[in-house]
Amino acid sequence: QVAARVRNLTKSYGSGDARVVALDDVSVDLEAGRFTAVMGPSGSGKSTLMHCCAALDRGDSGSVVIGEQDLTTLKDAALTRLRREEVGFVFQSFNLVPTLTARENILLPLSIAGRKPDPGWFDVVIDTVDLRPRLTHKPNELSGGQQQRVAVARALISRPRIVFADEPTGNLDSRSGAEVLSLLRAAVDDHGQTVVMVTHDPLAAAYCDRVLFLADGRVVHDLERPDREQVL
Ligand code: ADP
Ligand code: ADP
Repeated sequence: QVAARVRNLTKSYGSGDARVVALDDVSVDLEAGRFTAVMGPSGSGKSTLMHCCAALDRGDSGSVVIGEQDLTTLKDAALTRLRREEVGFVFQSFNLVPTLTARENILLPLSIAGRKPDPGWFDVVIDTVDLRPRLTHKPNELSGGQQQRVAVARALISRPRIVFADEPTGNLDSRSGAEVLSLLRAAVDDHGQTVVMVTHDPLAAAYCDRVLFLADGRVVHDLERPDREQVL
């Protein structure tokens, strides 16, 4: 089963001499129930690919299908719904709301949509990210690792088809980073979720089932369970 099907996706920024091709005819299937890493040099198109797949941005041509829906042809209202209900996103910089508690931040995607979590699911998520004693704290009362765990919980709370994480360990020390990677792994192994993560860290890629390498807006390698030497 495929969680996101990308076909001939092309996107450029700017025009004339300043035109930059960020994605150049990318086709890839992101399978459901797997943890995929996206690696490659800075500027190779990793963030653009994630943003187009997560309905945060649109390609110029080609298609991205999530579930039965082609993001490239959806109207804005349908895109907004898909972004809220069918995908989760974790940013390198956490992006928590500073005035809300951890609990309120985690529930935010549901409160915006006027929904409640599925019975039991809030507890599953909280236990997965190990945040129960911190639920009443505001972001500035949490460590970086705890804030990122809140951000991961927020991405999981609506049980999206697919969770995208853009360098989720980029601002964390190695221990906190390992905790975040373990819980993304657990989301896949224990709860059948689908995770796609941009990373520069070969150790992070070692948590994944598959590693895609981008260069100049193209997929140049696609490895199944690579060993260490292949990602270094
Ligand atoms: P990566 O995530 O691999 O660093 P990006 O997807 O961020 O790559 O960027 C791919 C290319 O597109 C780079 O050359 C980058 O400078 C350019 N780019 C990305 N976003 C924008 C933007 N909003 N405006 C102009 N150029 C952009
Ligand atoms: P990363 O490489 O960590 O993915 P970047 O620093 O390339 O992140 O990009 C951070 C943000 O800035 C992204 O939202 C991207 O779209 C935007 N961006 C990247 N390159 C450019 C650019 N040349 N001009 C304008 N915005 C850009």
